[in-house]
Amino acid sequence: MLNFDHAASTPAHPDVIRTIAEVMAVHSGNPSSIHRSGEAASKLLERSREVCAEALDVKPGEIVFTSGATESNNLAIKGVMLGRSDGRRHIVTTQIEHSSVYESCRQLESLGFETTYVQPESDGTVSTDRLLAAVRQDTALVSIMHVNNETGAVQPIEEIGRRLKSLDSRVLLHVDGVQGFGRLALDLKAASIDLYSVSAHKIRGPRGVGLLFVREGVRLFPLLSGGGQEGGLRAGTENVASIVGAAKAFRLAAEGRTERAAKMKAFRDTLVKEVRLHQALTLTEPIKPAPHIVHFTFPGLKSQVILHTLEELGMLVSAQSACAAKTEKPSRVLSAMGREREHATSGIRLSLGDEHTQEDIRLLSEALDKAVRRLAPLRGESDN
Ligand code: PLP
Repeated sequence: MLNFDHAASTPAHPDVIRTIAEVMAVHSGNPSSIHRSGEAASKLLERSREVCAEALDVKPGEIVFTSGATESNNLAIKGVMLGRSDGRRHIVTTQIEHSSVYESCRQLESLGFETTYVQPESDGTVSTDRLLAAVRQDTALVSIMHVNNETGAVQPIEEIGRRLKSLDSRVLLHVDGVQGFGRLALDLKAASIDLYSVSAHKIRGPRGVGLLFVREGVRLFPLLSGGGQEGGLRAGTENVASIVGAAKAFRLAAEGRTERAAKMKAFRDTLVKEVRLHQALTLTEPIKPAPHIVHFTFPGLKSQVILHTLEELGMLVSAQSACAAKTEKPSRVLSAMGREREHATSGIRLSLGDEHTQEDIRLLSEALDKAVRRLAPLRGESDN
C-alpha cells in the first residue's frame, strides 16, 4: 500500500521514533519538579524550545507547546479575542479555513463576537484586497492559513501581513502554517505575523504535539488553567518525550525544505500531467499551488467511491481534510470557491511526502489511469 495522504498525517521519521523511545526510557521526571530528574526533563524541554525557535527563526520565549495545531489555532483565536480589553470584538477570516479555525470563530460568535468570512477567488486563492476590505475599526484579529489543506492553494501571506499592518497596526495576524511549514519559505518577522500554528505530525513528527508562535508582547487569554506551564498559557504537565521528538522533526523539516520542495514539485508536475490526460477529471488549479498537494474532481461520482477504488489499487488518498473525510457533505472549501455540487462532492486530494520515489509516482499514475477507466462508465449512477 502506498500512502499519498501526507496532508492528513505523515509517517514518523526513524530518528524521531528513536529519540522519543530513548527519552521515554531514560527520563521519567516532571519538568516542574525541582529535583534532579525534574531538572533533567526541564532541560530537555527548554532545549527543544530552542531547536523549534531556530527552525522558525524566532525567540525560544515565543514558542508555546500544544497538543497540535487544532489547539494552537484555538489558543491563537480565542486567546486573542478573550484577552483583548480595548473593545475590539471582530475577526476577519476566510471561508476555506481548517475546522479548528472555523469552529473557534463560530464558538466566539455564540459569545457575542463577530466574524467576517471572506470568500476566496474561484482558484482557491484569497485576494488581499478582499481580505483587507473586511477589516473594520473594531477588528482585533485576521486569521488565515498559509496553504489550503484541500486544494493546496498558497495564500499571499507576506503581502497580507505588510498591508494589514500599514492599514491598522493594532490588528493581529494569525497564520495557520500547518501545510506550509517545511515546504514553503516564510519569514515570520518580514510578514509581520503575530501568531503562527504548526503541527508535528504533518512533518514526520509524532501526532499530538504542535506549537504556537506568539510574538513577544502579544497578550493571550489562556484556555487551560492549572499549574502555569508554558509561560502560563497552557497548563498541564508537558509531553516531554514527544516534544523532544517533535523538535527533531521541526529541525529536519526546516533543514531539508528547499530540496524537499523541489523534489515534490517535480513529482507534482508528473501527477498534474496524468490528471490532465483524463477528460473525466477536472484538475483544481490554484494560481500558486503548494508542491505537495494535487487536487482534482471527478464529477458524476462520489469522492468515497473514487477513494476506495484507488485503495483497492493500493493507493491511500483522501477526499477532503481528514476531519471531514467521514461526511458525504459537499466540501466547504470547494463550495466557497463556487464549484457546483457535482464537483464539491467528488474531490480527491493526493498529497506527497519526502520519502516518495519516482517509482511511487509512476505506480500512482498507473493506478489513477486504471481507476478512471474503471469508474468513468459508472458516472451519474451515484446520486450526486
Ligand atoms: N490546520 C490545517 C491546515 C490542517 O491541515 C490541520 C490538520 O489536518 C490542522 C490545522 C489541525 O492539525 P492537528 O491535527 O495537529 O490538530
